[in-house]
Amino acid sequence: MDQPHQALSPDEVVRAGLCVGCGGCAGLRAEALEMKLDAFGQLKPRGPAAEVASLAFARTCPFSPGAADEDAIATARFPAATGRDERLGRHEATYIGYVAEGDYRARASSGGLATWTAATLMERGLIDAVAHVAPDPGERLFSYVVSRNVDALRAGAKSRYYPVELSGVVRAILAAPGRYAVIGVPCFIKAIHLLRAQDPRLAERITHTIALFCGHMKSARMAESFAWQMDARLEDAEGFDFRLKIPDQPANWYVAAIDLPGGDQRRKHWWDMDDGDWGAGFFQNSACDWCDDVAGETADLTVGDAWIEPYSADGRGHNVAIVRDPALHVLFEEAAADGRLALTPATADTVAETQAAAFRQRREGLAYRLAVTPPALPLAKRVAPRTDLPPRRKLIYSARRHIARTSHRLFWLARRLRRPALYRAWARSVLSVYVALAYGRGRLGKILDRWR
Ligand SMILES: Cc1cc2nc3c(=O)[nH]c(=O)nc-3n(C[C@H](O)[C@H](O)[C@H](O)COP(=O)(O)OP(=O)(O)OC[C@H]3O[C@@H](n4cnc5c(N)ncnc54)[C@H](O)[C@@H]3O)c2cc1C
Repeated sequence: MDQPHQALSPDEVVRAGLCVGCGGCAGLRAEALEMKLDAFGQLKPRGPAAEVASLAFARTCPFSPGAADEDAIATARFPAATGRDERLGRHEATYIGYVAEGDYRARASSGGLATWTAATLMERGLIDAVAHVAPDPGERLFSYVVSRNVDALRAGAKSRYYPVELSGVVRAILAAPGRYAVIGVPCFIKAIHLLRAQDPRLAERITHTIALFCGHMKSARMAESFAWQMDARLEDAEGFDFRLKIPDQPANWYVAAIDLPGGDQRRKHWWDMDDGDWGAGFFQNSACDWCDDVAGETADLTVGDAWIEPYSADGRGHNVAIVRDPALHVLFEEAAADGRLALTPATADTVAETQAAAFRQRREGLAYRLAVTPPALPLAKRVAPRTDLPPRRKLIYSARRHIARTSHRLFWLARRLRRPALYRAWARSVLSVYVALAYGRGRLGKILDRWR
């Protein structure tokens, strides 16, 4: 892998808006860096080492210009991969399906493959522990934990659209020899492989990586905003579910649920929230504007939601899966033959189609952002800058950036003034413009539809 020539500090990455908050840096510098929530509810490294530039950090931060990119990492990890695709990366097999055995699917966000794969590796004695995300009894809603048995792992199923970070699990893995699997969004799995390249103990101990397809990361304020809109306070919550599974409703009609004391559960459809359109970009981490890895290209396995019909209409949930590790390919084929997994082979095009919006945002949208507002650090992306897009596409990409940036600031103000209505009125109005622009909805949408 290429080695960087320039040292870099965590603060430089934060100032450039490129810190995704993964905590990889703090994992290696326990004595001098800690991950803390900032005023916008995003995790950032703090401490004496934050200002110190080093080559080690430049090599391991997933948004550093000096870090190996996804192609370099995947080429080194999967040299003999039979499948190659510019969107999905190197791979052995691609599927749509779900876990047929037990209640993995019912307890999962989609088809349950993420938890089932980690649990099966553990049951077969191939790993000792799994680093994944579970409810946090402390100040934060959710955090990374290391689960050492299947019950603990299963208790952490479901997607958490909430800031989490890896420093604690990196330290735990450094402290206790064993074989670990790590589950995470693509940039976190990239960070894990960059850390593995830096520290031989991590290289030896982290034996499996499972990525989740990723649209983008949200700040902690999204959960807070949803709580406001369910007439609840997040501080009172005994549980929070971003995606309550309702089998007889379409899978893509997300329902958020908050559990309050006394058995009171409040539920609300994301569509009925002022800021519940995922793609509009509310509370998006700014680093995600510079990411070109939707499909977790450096992971042994990537799983996501099969967002195409007929699967998205089925509330029981379907995964889309990309298998890169040949041994996992064998495991999946055996489990499918035994009826433990229900898997249908899917072409790379079909898999990419399930994530069409994310690929547009991270290919065409990224190319446009690189051309009009290049990042403050010289990132080498796998997409070339371009501006030759239809005007409406340009407006959609610009609207998303505006919504992301303004949502952080206005929510901060509304929270400080204790006036949720301030943020909510803005969110409603900006969302009505966005849906007109993106989907042609409403009177404005009809007018825009005449102008392509
Ligand atoms: C921020 C984010 C954005 C996503 N964007 C997309 C997208 O655009 N398209 C798409 O198809 N899928 C996306 N996903 C993945 C999707 O929501 C499901 O997690 C995925 O389909 C796996 O479902 P499952 O039923 O197999 O997983 P489950 O069996 O429910 O298990 C999920 C596993 O992931 C872990 N986990 C949950 N949240 C996090 C987190 N924030 N970071 C690390 N690990 C976590 C859990 O602890 C659990 O081990 C996203 C997930 C996240 C967290």
